[in-house]
Amino acid sequence: MSDKIRVLLPEEEVVKRIREIGKQITEDYRGEEVFLICTLKGASLFACELAKRIDLPLTLDFIAVASYGSGTQSSGEVRMIKDLDESIEGKNVIVVEDIVDTGRTLSYLLEMMKKRNPKSLKLCSLLDKPERRVVDVEVDYKGFEVPDLFVVGYGLDYAQKYRNLPYVGILELDV
Ligand code: 5GP
Repeated sequence: MSDKIRVLLPEEEVVKRIREIGKQITEDYRGEEVFLICTLKGASLFACELAKRIDLPLTLDFIAVASYGSGTQSSGEVRMIKDLDESIEGKNVIVVEDIVDTGRTLSYLLEMMKKRNPKSLKLCSLLDKPERRVVDVEVDYKGFEVPDLFVVGYGLDYAQKYRNLPYVGILELDV
């Protein structure tokens, strides 16, 4: 029994796009500081690569909310697991996400962050699955749009596996 993974976005393509987003953020926030919020665990590889490409004074903090269980279906239930270490009041916050699917997790998280009075609040997601959107969420910085298939790699898991793949692939479950 082994799952098949079909390469969707090769490593070079992902890294190239992250460089472009980093450059764009650097230009958009010139003269300012930015506060990156990495959502654990999925966005960790993306956020670290992105942070290296942003040429500005930068703070990196981590937050964890639960959205998916160990399957491929969203429960719709969102729960805080780990909060930020620092205050975001008056800061230029960019929430860094791995994938926006239904939008439920993000809309919850963004509402919560808004209440903490940042100077500005933007969303950056490596992947976007627009076909699956249930809640309206605007992605300010987007890596790639992907089809309505379950993807893994570059931080994204299936039952905690495959996060370490250096590319984004489509998981074909062996059932
Ligand atoms: P949403 O609340 O937008 O439905 O779900 C967002 C979260 O669901 C993502 O942060 C991610 O953890 C998970 N998710 C959604 N689609 C996928 C997918 O195709 N692959 C993986 N590995 N996780 C997904």
